[in-house]
Amino acid sequence: MIENRVYNFSAGPSILPDEVLLSARENLLNYEGSGMSVMEMSHRSKVYDKIITECIANLRDVMNIPDNYKVLFLQGGATGMFAAIPLNISRTGAADYIVTGNFSNIAYQEAQKYMKDVRLAGTTRDDNFSRIPEQSELTLNPDADYVHICQNNTIFGTTWHRLPDTGNVPLVADLSSCILSEPVDVSKYGIIYAGVQKNMAPAGFAVVIVREDLLAGAQPICPKVWDFQLQAKKNSMLNTPPTWSIYICGEVLKWIKSIGGTPELQKRNQRKAALLYDYLDSQTFYKPSAQKDSRSMMNVTFRTGDDELDKKFVAESMEAGMTNLKGHRLVGGMRASIYNAMPYEGVEYLVGFMKKFAKENA
Ligand SMILES: *Cc1c(COP(=O)(O)O)cnc(C)c1O
Repeated sequence: MIENRVYNFSAGPSILPDEVLLSARENLLNYEGSGMSVMEMSHRSKVYDKIITECIANLRDVMNIPDNYKVLFLQGGATGMFAAIPLNISRTGAADYIVTGNFSNIAYQEAQKYMKDVRLAGTTRDDNFSRIPEQSELTLNPDADYVHICQNNTIFGTTWHRLPDTGNVPLVADLSSCILSEPVDVSKYGIIYAGVQKNMAPAGFAVVIVREDLLAGAQPICPKVWDFQLQAKKNSMLNTPPTWSIYICGEVLKWIKSIGGTPELQKRNQRKAALLYDYLDSQTFYKPSAQKDSRSMMNVTFRTGDDELDKKFVAESMEAGMTNLKGHRLVGGMRASIYNAMPYEGVEYLVGFMKKFAKENA
């Protein structure tokens, strides 16, 4: 770890690989002999064109994206895409939303502004979103334009370990907090999208991976900047893209390739998550918030059961050199976001602290 840096467990914007930050610093004032910073560069310049083109190519490579999918970089974050999805792929005006947490609920609400028949196809709200529903709990409309899920629920610490069976209806998934954490079979989805600030880059845009047959047909009221077809034609440069954020995303992808791609990240992430969950399961001082078969590999939620103790935990963890372990107010307790860039040692350090805190406060 670089000196004077903390172990940052933030849910987002979140930790980036040291290698990427060091390389960005190295190139900050004069990027590859251009005499200027990437921040100062025209997005129409040759140098920048190479940055965005390579970034997209590396994403295609790392995620093994089939040729019949387009990759778009759009502004407005994942929240913007909650609107952009219904604005682009409404055909009949019917969509199914499965609500497994805060973000999927916001997506569900947002779609209702732009489609006339948005249904709640399943939810685990009664269990405070501590789990993912079974297939048998879903009521899917076979005529829907798409089914929407949030694959990893950042706030609640749950994840879809098995995708819902949607038949011929395209699956649209928000992968903001799990993209690039393990290999995914892109061909199972109509659209994958993700805000980049969790596992890919500094905040600034959303990645949208969209199957070509879903590209055309945006509603007339769809803002130009979110028109999938138009942005695909313009290589996501209809207007000025978030140049710096895309540059760092490219560097993160190079880092991922250099360590062995998503299969290697999956191994590392499984090992990190296992360390934390195995500890949680081995004791009774902390209670895991998510049910076992729905647990997220990226966001680990737990509490002591005593709000004052939780507060004390968070305060003392900061003194110990860790940040952002406070859970979201909708769940309470603690949350450790252990994205790709979090080293194993960071989780080891956290677990060591948890043991000590438990002993002192039991
Ligand atoms: C963070 C997050 C969002 C919101 O992303 P913004 O880019 O801030 O709009 C949406 N969905 C999920 C799953 C998230 O983790």
